[in-house]
Amino acid sequence: MSLVVINFWYVIAAALFIFGLKKLGSPDSAVKGNIYSAAAMLIAVAVTLFNKNILSFDWIFIAAVAGSIIGAVAAQRVQMTSMPEMVAIFNGSGGIASLLVGWAALFNSGNTLLTNITVVISIVVGGMTFSGSILAWGKLSEIMNSAAVVFSGQRVVNSAIVLGLLLFSVLFCLEPSVSSPYLYLIISLSILLGVMAVLPIGGADMPVVISLLNSYSGLAACAAGLAINNNILIVAGSMVGAAGIILTNIMCKAMNRSLAHVLFSGFSAAKQATKVEGEVKPITADDAFLILEAAQSVTFVPGYGMAVAQAQHVVRELGELLEKNGADVTYAIHPVAGRMPGHMNVLLAEANVSYDQLIEMEDINPRIGGVDVAVVIGANDVVNPAARNDENSPIYGMPIINVDEARTVFVLKRSMASGFSGVDNPLFFCDNTRMLFGDAKQSISSVVAEFKI
Ligand code: NDP
Repeated sequence: MSLVVINFWYVIAAALFIFGLKKLGSPDSAVKGNIYSAAAMLIAVAVTLFNKNILSFDWIFIAAVAGSIIGAVAAQRVQMTSMPEMVAIFNGSGGIASLLVGWAALFNSGNTLLTNITVVISIVVGGMTFSGSILAWGKLSEIMNSAAVVFSGQRVVNSAIVLGLLLFSVLFCLEPSVSSPYLYLIISLSILLGVMAVLPIGGADMPVVISLLNSYSGLAACAAGLAINNNILIVAGSMVGAAGIILTNIMCKAMNRSLAHVLFSGFSAAKQATKVEGEVKPITADDAFLILEAAQSVTFVPGYGMAVAQAQHVVRELGELLEKNGADVTYAIHPVAGRMPGHMNVLLAEANVSYDQLIEMEDINPRIGGVDVAVVIGANDVVNPAARNDENSPIYGMPIINVDEARTVFVLKRSMASGFSGVDNPLFFCDNTRMLFGDAKQSISSVVAEFKI
């Protein structure tokens, strides 16, 4: 295939990527967006395989079969609740792939200084994306403590790593070779930097790090594309990089924190929230039914626990029953609820909740005082009033959905345990709060059953 034909198909693939991204912007068109993007990826891979620079298909075939098997098994087995961890693994895979592509590019003869610089960038960004994502996966899956890890001298160590990387990169570019010791030092230090960069980020700041790693994986792919002179890799990588940065910005705004603050301050490392004490008022599903039956307006506030309980379908059913009963029903969405950006939107769309009923945090808060019942379904950090009232709290300043201002609040969860950030929640002790303990799906199903009697 001639270069002109290859580039023609690359332009088609790039256009499909852009249309795909655009369509992913709304739940109605998201499925089409996915199909467009998958078609673009198929074109990009197929056209690249026709490139006459490929000498042997053996390894490509083996890798494609292995990758397809892993992908198919993961798609079948991975639970919806584990999607955030899966995204972290995908980011990490993108990072290590870029590192390896950059490394492989060194075997080409006649590399220019510019090529070697892009090789170093793809190795450094790819390496830190890989190790950072593995650490993020560990924190998200709670295999390791999700809290920020800070120690004295951390910034000095990080600065030394960055300076070392700069020095070895320059030395490597002056005398590039596959057997250069500087190459191995760069690889090791970039992997170490990924770990050191993610260690001090934890708790409620994790959404920012996930979107940032997503962006890094794109930038690494873009650099790898430059290293091997592949146009579609450059285009796709820069799109992922840009989308990740936009998402990072949205997440920072959602947390009311600057990126620098997230990266360098160490969430929850220094502050100690005021101890919360008081009496909780537990209720049964029967009590909840009686209050809901009389309610004129009900706002559901879903959180990570709804994903764990897989309660979205039964929540939609309860919503429909309440509407039939004459209540105005809405769903308030916090941008960082759940464990990945858009987590609640995805779950509610899966349950066919009308998009018109979803209300963003900044739109529900001014009118939440007029809501008869706010039903908190497995949400905790995103409705924690300590973020508003307790200056000592690690989450102080993070915007929340002000459910405590509703006339009555139901909190559906299994225990008094804290949320992902590990911060106690004074909402549970408010006068207008009623705790409906138990698995969210079972609790809502019991209320639905009462409505059907
Ligand atoms: P939280 O993690 O704060 O709280 C979830 C609550 O759900 C828990 O307190 C738990 O309480 C309850 N729960 C768990 N399982 C069930 C169940 N089966 N039935 C009922 N309740 C259940 O969730 P939020 O959505 O409020 O906040 C998200 C947090 O995650 C924020 O701190 C955010 O920063 C962070 N995060 C978000 C990411 C994103 O991109 N959105 C990524 C990474 C982190 P109990 O055990 O008592 O049932």
